[in-house]
This record gives sequence, structure tokens and C-alpha cells, in this order.
Amino acid sequence: MTLSYINPTSDSPWATYISQVDRVIPYLGTLGRWAETLKRPKRALIVDVPIELDDGSVRHFEGFRVQHSLTRGPGKGGVRFHPDVTLEEVMALSAWMSIKNAAVNLPYGGAKGGIRVDPKLLSRKELERMTRRYTSEIGIIIGPHQDIPAPDVNTDGQIMAWMMDTYSMNTGSTATGVVTGKPIHLGGSLGRVKATGRGVFVTGREAARRIGLDLNGARVAVQGFGNVGSSAAELFGQAGGLIVAAQDHTGSIINEQGMDLSLLIPHVRATGGVAGFKGAEPMDNEAFWDVRCDIMIPAALENQITADRARRLKARLVLEGANGPTGRAADDVLADRNILVVPDVICNAGGVTVSYFEWVQDFSSFFWTEDEINVRLDKIMIGALKKIWDTADQHKITLRTATFAVACERILTARQERGLYP
Ligand code: GLU
Repeated sequence: MTLSYINPTSDSPWATYISQVDRVIPYLGTLGRWAETLKRPKRALIVDVPIELDDGSVRHFEGFRVQHSLTRGPGKGGVRFHPDVTLEEVMALSAWMSIKNAAVNLPYGGAKGGIRVDPKLLSRKELERMTRRYTSEIGIIIGPHQDIPAPDVNTDGQIMAWMMDTYSMNTGSTATGVVTGKPIHLGGSLGRVKATGRGVFVTGREAARRIGLDLNGARVAVQGFGNVGSSAAELFGQAGGLIVAAQDHTGSIINEQGMDLSLLIPHVRATGGVAGFKGAEPMDNEAFWDVRCDIMIPAALENQITADRARRLKARLVLEGANGPTGRAADDVLADRNILVVPDVICNAGGVTVSYFEWVQDFSSFFWTEDEINVRLDKIMIGALKKIWDTADQHKITLRTATFAVACERILTARQERGLYP
């Protein structure tokens, strides 16, 4: 059934998500009767976000918060600030959160939010005003037991601190559990910043082991050198991998010998991107996809691996640090070429897993050590991947369809047990 309020194109994120659900229905048995539940968000809120700019003029931004599913628990998922954000994109991202949270068995539904804005064009004060007004507007549907936002593209601990403060001021009590990914002294969790990258590494290491790929000396290419890409690159580097190519919105760079991350990461922090890094050569953006590598980590935005790029890719393993980086047709090309894809909905689930730890710590006001967090994170990721791998082997399906099978079974079982109201 198509929804009247959006108009997805063939490769748009929502269309991609729907096709992923369609693929899993044959494996759901009688639960398939509830599958339509997955094809529509439970609730979608569009808000106007007007703010006064520093020059005294007024600007309006489009804001969204979509709760795709609240069946297994409160909504959970990040908030992104990006000029390309649309309702349809946020719907897809919220749906992928439902799948991701169920795949690692966190007691959450799925949600996502966003503002259609280029935050780089705002001053810090403007960014704060926009964040606070947006939080106030979506305040009617978020809360520690309703829906818990977190960082995503172009949002960080500071944004979460403003969100937490705004929500707390509006409700009259300090509610640390309303967002995760907060700074440490505001109820944040150790290990949260690097958790997504760590999850990418842990699932990647397990997948590499299973296909007999030695990480020591493995050639790694990373697209997106933000929080996720740089943390994952660091861990692969520590395991003996060579980061041979990197790409972000500033450009693409290559060094066949492997880049020195102790120099590249500070360079990115200081200049805002990989371009101009002295320890590598600049390269053409499109040629990035032709680089000879063992592991490709797309850790930027959706639809980066197109069918054409999938045909050219040299990697044996694709680790989806981003949400939705592989287009629909590209997914089939990669499967045909026997390139293993660890899909976003498990590969990048480390972030939300430590968000869950943060939320639990906030409620108990008892905080864990970084070691405790990492040990628990690794255990959850390895256990979840094993179940997915076994499911893929059992049905001879891709890891993506297997992840959807595991997750959708959990969501729809809960759906069935709760029953229809009224
Ligand atoms: N934005 C992250 C994601 O896409 C984390 C969400 C969260 O921690 O709630 O998984």
C-alpha cells in the first residue's frame, strides 16, 4: 500500500526500505499478516522552526520527528542537521532504527529526527536557538519514556546538551534520560562517542574472520571521516589494517602505503575534512570507488554505493557505517559479485547500543567504567551478528535480509502479542 503523503522515487531511502521489507516477508510465516505495520510510520511530526538570525532577520527551517514503531518500547534514534533532509528520508531512517534496535534486541522501537539546514552556515548562537526551538516543537512527542533522540549526521554532545536543557526547562525537572550521546558530566556515557565506530570494527572483524580475511595488512577505504568513519579507521589501523583511501565532503585522498591516522585525525579535526592532508595524495572523487582494497567502509550518507560503483568496487567486504549507503540495485550487484555486505542495521548498531547503556545508567544514576561498556558492547554485537549469520546460512539469504528476518520477527511477535487496540 502506498502512502498518500510521500512520493518515493525508485532509489529513494523509503523505497529501498520497503523493498527490504518485501524481501523478508516470505520468511515471516504467519507473522506476515502484520507486515503492513512495518510499511508505515506510527507517527510523523512536521514542525516549523523559526529563529532570529544574528543579523536580526527571521528564518524558518523544516523540522521532523518520525516514530516508525513504538511496539517494543519507546522510540529511539538520532537527529540530523543536513540540507537534504526530507520527511521521506527521516521516515526511512526511523524505520531502519526499528530494525536496528530489534536486531540487537534493545527494548526500543524506532524513531529519527532532522532539520533541513546546512548547520555550517549558522553561527553557534543561531545553531543553539534552532536546536532549542526544534526541541520545544517536538517536545510534545519526545521524553525519557516516549522517544529518546541522539546524535546523528552533524549533531553532537553539545546539541544533545541543549536538547536536554530545553526539554528539562519546559518540563520543570532535569531529565537526563530524554536524549543520549550527552557530554559526560550531564549524564553521558563513557565510550558513547566511539561506540558506532567500535561496532563497525567488531562486526567487521567477525565477518573478516568468517571469510578468511586477515585484518593484519588488510587494505581499508573509508568514506566519511566524521565520528563513525574515523573511529572505525582507528581500530582497523590498530589491528594492522592499512587505511589506503579516505573520502569526505572536502575531497578524496590516497596513500597505497597506508595513512598515518595519528596525523590524519588531527588534520580533519583542525581543517574540517580530509582534503589537503600532507600524508597522502589527492585523488578524483569518483576514482575513490575503484581503489584496490579489501574492506570498504561507507560511513557518510545514503545511496553512495550505486549499481555502477558496486560493479567497480574491488573490496571483499563492505561495512555499512552509514545508514542506507547501498542503493537497492547495488545491493544485488554486490551479492552477485560475492562481495559480503555487513548491513547498516547491524554494522552501525554499536552507537545505539551504548545509547541504551547511557539511558539505563541515567535511570539508575550509577555509571559504568569504559571497560565495562566496551565488554558489554562487544558481547551484544558479536551475539547479534552470530544469530544473523546463522539465519543467513539457514535460509541462504544475504546478511541484510537475515537481519531484517531476525528483527521483523521480534517486532511483529510483539505486535501480535500486544494485539490491536481497541
Ligand atoms: N544516530 C545513530 C544511529 O543511526 C544513533 C542513534 C541512537 O543512539 O539513538 O544509529
